[in-house]
Amino acid sequence: MYLKRELSDSLVAFYGLHFPFKRLSKSSLRYEVTLGVGGNVGDVKRRFEHLFFLLRFERRVEVVRTSLILKNPPFGYTQQDDFFNSIIILKTSMQAKAFLAYLMRIEKKFGRRRSFANAPRTLDLDIIFFDNRVIKTENLTVPHPSWYKRESVVIPLAGVSI
Ligand code: ADP
Ligand code: MG
Repeated sequence: MYLKRELSDSLVAFYGLHFPFKRLSKSSLRYEVTLGVGGNVGDVKRRFEHLFFLLRFERRVEVVRTSLILKNPPFGYTQQDDFFNSIIILKTSMQAKAFLAYLMRIEKKFGRRRSFANAPRTLDLDIIFFDNRVIKTENLTVPHPSWYKRESVVIPLAGVSI
């Protein structure tokens, strides 16, 4: 089902059904979002496929591209399973704040529980970029802080940036 390729001692790339994916028709919605997707509990690759369908049935969202899935070691709290990460480029008609609230509802739906920083999680949805906006509010920092230092973002992103 998945094509698997070891990139280094600790990094593995997976290629599956809709990861990567590329939309053929032109998208009409207003804002372009780069979404970081991650998780390390249960069958994460399957959950990503489920998320893909959920996003495709949301009329305020159009999925433009997705990246490969990267398996990579945890950081911060390292006594936990490896993470699976991917990047989804999408367009949305939602404003940034509303879009963040939408993401948090999806995380909840997929069984996300908030415990401590860098804790194991079923699904983590982070806004890496929102159009070319710079946002600094209590609940939302865009671009996502230190995205460029993380292999989990940079490697999948390299394959989808145009
Ligand atoms: P992390 O992703 O850093 O491991 P969480 O997923 O638990 O942490 O998110 C904690 C909070 O980060 C969220 O409640 C959200 O309000 C805030 N946040 C700030 N900037 C962003 C962003 N760009 N994308 C997603 N969440 C963000
Ligand atoms: Mg998060």
